[in-house]
Amino acid sequence: MKKLITISIAAGLILGACQNKPKEATPANGDADKTFVEWKENVFMDSLWATNPVWASQQGYHKYDAILPIPDESGIKQQLAFADWTEAKLKTFKYDQLSDINKTDYKLLENFIASTRFYDNQFRERDWNPAIFNIGDALDYVINNNPAPLDEKLKNVSARLSKVPAYYEAAKGAIRQPTREHTKLALMQTDGLLSFFTSVFPDSLKASGLNAADKKAFEDNAAAAKKAIEGYATWLKALEKQFNGENTRSFAIGKEMYAKKFNYDIQCGISSDAMYQKALDRKAVLHHEMYDLTVSLWPKYLKDKPMPKDTLVAIRAMIDKLSEKHANRDSFMTVIEHQMPELVQFINDNKLITLDPTKPLKVRKTPEYMAGVAGASINSPGPYDKGGNTYYNVTPLTNYKPEKAESYLREYNDYVLQILNIHEAIPGHYVQLIYSNRNPSMIKTIFGNGAMIEGWACYVERMMIEAGYHKSPEMQLFFDKWNLREVCNFLLDYNVQANGWSEKQVLDLLVNQGFQQSAEAEEKYKRASLSQVQLASYFSGQTEIFELREEMKKKLGDKFDLKAFHEQFLSYGSAPVKEIRTLMLK
Ligand code: ZN
Ligand code: ZN
Repeated sequence: MKKLITISIAAGLILGACQNKPKEATPANGDADKTFVEWKENVFMDSLWATNPVWASQQGYHKYDAILPIPDESGIKQQLAFADWTEAKLKTFKYDQLSDINKTDYKLLENFIASTRFYDNQFRERDWNPAIFNIGDALDYVINNNPAPLDEKLKNVSARLSKVPAYYEAAKGAIRQPTREHTKLALMQTDGLLSFFTSVFPDSLKASGLNAADKKAFEDNAAAAKKAIEGYATWLKALEKQFNGENTRSFAIGKEMYAKKFNYDIQCGISSDAMYQKALDRKAVLHHEMYDLTVSLWPKYLKDKPMPKDTLVAIRAMIDKLSEKHANRDSFMTVIEHQMPELVQFINDNKLITLDPTKPLKVRKTPEYMAGVAGASINSPGPYDKGGNTYYNVTPLTNYKPEKAESYLREYNDYVLQILNIHEAIPGHYVQLIYSNRNPSMIKTIFGNGAMIEGWACYVERMMIEAGYHKSPEMQLFFDKWNLREVCNFLLDYNVQANGWSEKQVLDLLVNQGFQQSAEAEEKYKRASLSQVQLASYFSGQTEIFELREEMKKKLGDKFDLKAFHEQFLSYGSAPVKEIRTLMLK
């Protein structure tokens, strides 16, 4: 479940010119909740989409599909004006009079206002990341995943295409000192973008019922847009040469900026530096525990071999040995399917959380159009498609080459596959989603806190192991390895972005201390150089949830009930853990 994570971050990145003046809210009628709900769900949401038409298309709101805002300084002014307007409106509601669900929405909106200002005034990604001017989504989402008649969709696309030349002129004006890495990414994306003009658009035009004159006008718009994109690519290539020397801007944002971005994206109760210390501590605990487990398992699996002196090398040898226990490529999907009822049974027997028997999770083969999405993940319907089904998509390994399938199956061996299912499905992302849908809030669907969402899925891995799910030293060892990966995600993100770590240092961390494969580690480094803070959400979220639980235990003593804790925690929806904490401890 990755798509929710970038949403609150995207708020500051997507530029837009507001065509429609935001409508005024109805005056307060004494019922604070009712007025607030009416304002946030109707007035605020529509104004948000009017200010951010491309983001709206991505989310399945198609009212503004014909508009493509030009990313110049006036676009930024519009974003900031919208933040000011939201703030003024928000202040007319009294936080104390709102229900808990609305209180957390209020806080999410406050963060939206503050982070819009941060992204536009300080972070200013437009200065250095040419990849944010990718109009792929602005075009694709008008045609794809949209139930409107084709001719209408094409009219909207054509209207956006007519703005593309001005769009890229503004982009060139905005970029000041691009990083080499983001320039490369942008060039790669423009290559992909051109396929819209060679297949998606001509194919749709052919299938449409438009008259010849309209078709001609649309083709002209498309030709001019394509030329503008190619021109942008040529311009970027020249820029790349110019900035190829020592004066290139580093992709690392530095300690101070990292601390701020961490604040706005994670909405954490503590600073990034304090969380970094916790991640280092956790790594030490895990290494210690993994070594003890390795010592105890050695006689059972590797007694003919001397145990390596280096503790990390010994742990790795044990992990490699145990990874041989895995499903085969033809049974991979069936094994996952069979684990679902087993998870449900265990959770019910141990009274961990109430599951909704009317909403069993459907496991299915990943559909063709999502090909390229590896492994297994939860696929939930978009915010404007609430009736849609949630699926557990599993990509069958039938098309994998034998070596790749083997390496994948070893990675998702019999132990890790259990943890993956806990994380993605039950009681992880899928269960969290069901609870959050009980109190529908568009604010939480759009601005939901990624660290809470990922944190929950990671927290329940630990919780299920504590409760004794498939209890064995082998299972514990692989849980530790998996948890170490989440810890390393944080350490890697923080060190690369705030501490100036090199790729070599990263590979040492992930491969030698995190027991990962080199290919996986290299991918992670790439991801950590192009994004910031998202990789920190897994560890930050779970740590805050875990600590909240321990605090509640202390506070309630004998009265503490794990099931009640989980259900209350999830009842607030995808709110930042620190806000949930305030409400639970009051
Ligand atoms: Zn094998
Ligand atoms: Zn996840």
